[in-house]
Amino acid sequence: MIRCKRLRVSRLLSRAGWAVLAVNAVACSEWSAEPAVTEPAALREGAAEPAANILLISIDTLRADHLHAYGYDRRTSPAIDRMAQEGVRFADVVAASSWTLPGHATMLTGLDPASHGVVAFRGDSSLPGEVEMLAERFAAAGFRTAAFAGGGWVSSRQGFDRGFERFRSAEQTFRFSGRLKRAVRNAWNWISRHRNERFFFFLHTYQVHMPYKPPRPYDRMFDRGLTGPKRRSLPFGALSTWARDGVKNRAVAAQIRKLYDGEIRFVDLWIGKLLGWLRSSGLDRRTCVLLTSDHGEAFGEHGDFFHDRAKLFQEVTSVPLLVWCPGRLEGGRVVESPVGVVDVAPTALELAGLPVPDDLDGVSLVSQLRGDVVPPGRVLLSDVDLSVERPLLSNHDPEPGFVLGLRRGSYKLIYRSTDGSRQLYDLASDPSESENLVLLRPDVLADFEAPLAAAIERRRSLPEASVARPEAANPGFIEELRALGYVE
Ligand SMILES: [Zn+2]
Repeated sequence: MIRCKRLRVSRLLSRAGWAVLAVNAVACSEWSAEPAVTEPAALREGAAEPAANILLISIDTLRADHLHAYGYDRRTSPAIDRMAQEGVRFADVVAASSWTLPGHATMLTGLDPASHGVVAFRGDSSLPGEVEMLAERFAAAGFRTAAFAGGGWVSSRQGFDRGFERFRSAEQTFRFSGRLKRAVRNAWNWISRHRNERFFFFLHTYQVHMPYKPPRPYDRMFDRGLTGPKRRSLPFGALSTWARDGVKNRAVAAQIRKLYDGEIRFVDLWIGKLLGWLRSSGLDRRTCVLLTSDHGEAFGEHGDFFHDRAKLFQEVTSVPLLVWCPGRLEGGRVVESPVGVVDVAPTALELAGLPVPDDLDGVSLVSQLRGDVVPPGRVLLSDVDLSVERPLLSNHDPEPGFVLGLRRGSYKLIYRSTDGSRQLYDLASDPSESENLVLLRPDVLADFEAPLAAAIERRRSLPEASVARPEAANPGFIEELRALGYVE
């Protein structure tokens, strides 16, 4: 068993100190399967519980079922697996959308897309001023706040910088390659500078997002043969085409998955380093880490690749959520009942000892972290606007409309506004969503009608998505989106 020596990290923050820190961090990141060094204690109720700092990590495009902790056969995630062993894993987490902007807007507000209103796939979409961001709530309570984000759809353009005294995103600080390493080191640098204060830190990375180009040795970790095109010599457009064509070719699709898995393993390495540094410094005793994602990724399960189709199948809506608070939470607990990314913000607030506003769509999951079982019946929403299917720079006007996903228990209803179509699946018996039960289970369908009607009404109250394209005037933004595959 590797025990991480507690370092006086604040003394090691000079550039010269990084080497020493890195050596220890690597040792700490090689987490063994044994329990935590310290005795875990159940999260206690009441004001006597010292409030926690919050580190929220969003690994963009991370589908839950590609993590070993979520049952994946490949060992993509040893550090995240250990997070699950020492913390609480939510087994069934519903993403708010199938793409980045509304997904993160929900994650960082606790509001459904129909409440925060950021649903349209357009360059000038931004969070309305009256929507209070999670960081603003932390800042108002006296927390130090900072974020390192990947840019693109998670940048100051959309208002994600609100409430952060320091907000850096990829377009400001680092280029596409090497961004994760720098982001994690910058995150730790900031956290350790503020280790004696209360803080909220948000770390977002596109590392597992297309293009799947993990650095060596992760590019061959799960695909030693690498029989496809030499990716390093491919321009992004060619990679994108190859990847999309892979849907029609099982062997290529399988190889693409291996590259995606290599990206996950690389991210996991840096998650392990960051958690190891927290542990080494003793900050793990005063910090809760929440790890989640905004949406998953399709690999041809329902005929699509990537996540830019207006569909809400599990490959894009099932994401991980782990909460790691050593010393505060009993380790190894798994919460099976469905929860949503919409619950992340209220949960973070309560863990930090702050009040949870009662006008949020999400709810705090702290009682479930303690082991309480919530009564069934809650309906969780996902939402994708049809404008997501419009190429960003094309002159093609999308059909106005939206797709909604409603989860209740094991059942999932998918509704498309343009034709009123409904698909009903029982994820317990049909996790791949292959058998539409609309005609077979009218009783279940009937139970969904009232919440569906309410969700449709709320969604229709939003302004029509504009087809204006102000993004054309911003070449920097276009380049970022091209790097992410949204622009050919
Ligand atoms: Zn995303």
